[in-house]
Amino acid sequence: MTNQPGDQTPQLICPLCRCGQFQQEEARSDSRWGFTSHRMTLMICVNCRFVLHFYDNHSVFDFD
Ligand SMILES: [Zn+2]
Repeated sequence: MTNQPGDQTPQLICPLCRCGQFQQEEARSDSRWGFTSHRMTLMICVNCRFVLHFYDNHSVFDFD
């Protein structure tokens, strides 16, 4: 993995308040409709509580 503390790490910024601190939550959509469960990563702005959704962790932002 490319997890070096360089300058290649994308910075997540809240589009509403420009805050850079987020609370990370993981949401699962269980098989309510018979589909396989998908994971969604929620990044919640600690300032204005705006929620960003990332589907199945295939984002440019590599969490964890
Ligand atoms: Zn915000």
